[in-house]
Amino acid sequence: MIQVPSLTLPQVEQRANVLLGEYADTIGSNVPSPVPVTDIATNELGLTLEFMDLHAYFKRPKSGASSEILGAMEFSNNRILIDHSLDPSLFPHRLGRFRYSVAHEIGHWRLHRGKVLQSQKKSKQPPIICRDPGRQKMPTIERQAEYFASFLLLPGDRVSDAWGSKPPFVFDVFGHGSPELRSLWMSTRADSILTRSLFASECEKRFEEIAAPLAWKFEVSKQAMCIRLEGMGLIRRSAAGSKILSTSRGDFLHSPMNS
Ligand SMILES: [Zn+2]
Repeated sequence: MIQVPSLTLPQVEQRANVLLGEYADTIGSNVPSPVPVTDIATNELGLTLEFMDLHAYFKRPKSGASSEILGAMEFSNNRILIDHSLDPSLFPHRLGRFRYSVAHEIGHWRLHRGKVLQSQKKSKQPPIICRDPGRQKMPTIERQAEYFASFLLLPGDRVSDAWGSKPPFVFDVFGHGSPELRSLWMSTRADSILTRSLFASECEKRFEEIAAPLAWKFEVSKQAMCIRLEGMGLIRRSAAGSKILSTSRGDFLHSPMNS
């Protein structure tokens, strides 16, 4: 795994905004919405984009233990590879995941190409193979690319505009939780694994309902939209739930970039 320099979240966001600015200059107008990520990859950055069966291509059969390969960045020939299972012309319901994967590979191109070029001759550069992060702890290089994708597809000013003047949504156990969750919350089992997991699932279900129309508008997955909205403080978990605020998604959101 390539070791990359640390970047703060604002630094990654700034790098994504610089690319959007360059693209706007190229096309001579504001970047359309949803952000045309494939056009940025091909026309702005001069990369080629190909679909293929990446598990076969890299000779890494799918196994129960390893997560799905979604994309890869081949620095040696300026090529983004996307797994055929994400081809939106065949699988329209995966459009959001496809766009996020392209944006993720652009993140590697913009954030990590210099480091790769420094360390190896171009002809010997191994591709960066990107797997579905799922709920695993990601290495820094992958986390940086994930955040870059989020900032590229979901620019802060556009998400704020789309959210409008509504106050942030705060999930509150008593206002939004099920009778079962409220009952557990008030019991001696408030800090149990059961309560934590029920809190997390009810909270995330509500968040996804709120995120759904925005996810559709920006052509990203509901999960990607939730992470961005939560990162911007537009959807939150109530302070009253502070003892169980930490969920796997929350861990991703708040995990340090440089660990
Ligand atoms: Zn990656």
